[in-house]
Amino acid sequence: MKAKTKQVLVAGGAGFLGSHLCETLLAQGAKVWCLDNLQTGQRRTLRKLEQDPNFTFIEGDVIDPLPLRALPRRLDEIYNLACAASPPQYQADPEHTMLTSVLGTRNLLRLAEKHEARFLLTSTSEVYGDPEVHPQAESYRGNVNCTGPRACYDEGKRAAESLTFDFHRSGRAEVRVVRIFNTYGPRMRADDGRVVSNVITQALEGLDITVYGQGSQTRSFCYVDDMVDGLMRLMAYEGPQPGPVNIGNPVELTVSELVQQVLAITGSRSTVVNMPLPEDDPQRRRPDITKAQQLLGWAPRTALAEGLRATVAWFAALQAEPELARPV
Ligand code: NAD
Ligand code: UDP
Repeated sequence: MKAKTKQVLVAGGAGFLGSHLCETLLAQGAKVWCLDNLQTGQRRTLRKLEQDPNFTFIEGDVIDPLPLRALPRRLDEIYNLACAASPPQYQADPEHTMLTSVLGTRNLLRLAEKHEARFLLTSTSEVYGDPEVHPQAESYRGNVNCTGPRACYDEGKRAAESLTFDFHRSGRAEVRVVRIFNTYGPRMRADDGRVVSNVITQALEGLDITVYGQGSQTRSFCYVDDMVDGLMRLMAYEGPQPGPVNIGNPVELTVSELVQQVLAITGSRSTVVNMPLPEDDPQRRRPDITKAQQLLGWAPRTALAEGLRATVAWFAALQAEPELARPV
């Protein structure tokens, strides 16, 4: 008997990670519905996918009642990626960011319950706040300032995790939660304000490189293809509820070291200017990925230099031929 085609909803599918996820799902033979309010996502990112008869784009906000008529009668999997991820973007409308995580996740969990679909929440390393434990394992409960400017995102995601595990505990939905650490790659927006996109575009344009603070704060950067692989492995994981799972690249470097790598790859002569460090900016971040390795057999495969070269090439093409080099 022919196996049923998997039917998947990706909320936030027009964003950076979501567009790569939709593309991979389609390549693996799934039918994909993408629900997105285009707050930070871009329709042009989906231009190629929209030529695929197995792909449907629905413009809508996950906070609102979901557009049930535009969705199929059967959904097997629901990925919730809907939420601006870059600090300037999620802080632009903090109330909406908080509600996206709380109401949006509730709406999507209820949809998963109705369809008996498996639900995956993309949570974040930000649930660890400015961590006092290093590296961060899933057992660490975090150090978040609940009244600070990042709280709309951090606390929103923490609440979304709570709701997700409440649905699990009460047997209402089968759930997975991934805590994503900083991820980069082609299709990031040049104007999203994240460090990788800022530094690469500044280097390519010969502009000053903006380093916030002294650049001694650390991050661990994961290439987008590795992240999508991790998300899909967790969704497919069979076994007892694994709890939240960190997915990220444990290679940690300072912001200054990242800048030096980008300058070397681009051959740029841009100079560094130091700007004020944003409030509550985490000082150190590195995932402990033991759980992902043991449960999912997952580990990142793309070295930072390789991923940065691909990302630089993509931004360079975008600048040289803005019409031709649209995201593919
Ligand atoms: P992104 O901003 O590129 O994508 C988010 C997408 O969600 C966009 O297309 C946006 O338009 C959409 N969206 C936002 N609010 C919505 C709403 N209320 N209703 C419908 N759509 C909405 O961000 P990304 O980097 O692709 O991140 C995807 C997910 O992964 C987010 O949930 C984010 O919190 C999480 N995450 C990402 C990173 C990272 O480094 N990229 C790190 C940690 C967590
Ligand atoms: N950052 C920086 N220059 C920039 C943008 C960001 O030095 O132009 C710093 C930022 O203060 C933070 C790190 O780079 O310490 C990562 O920032 P990003 O916004 O990419 O991610 P997040 O802070 O959410 O980890």
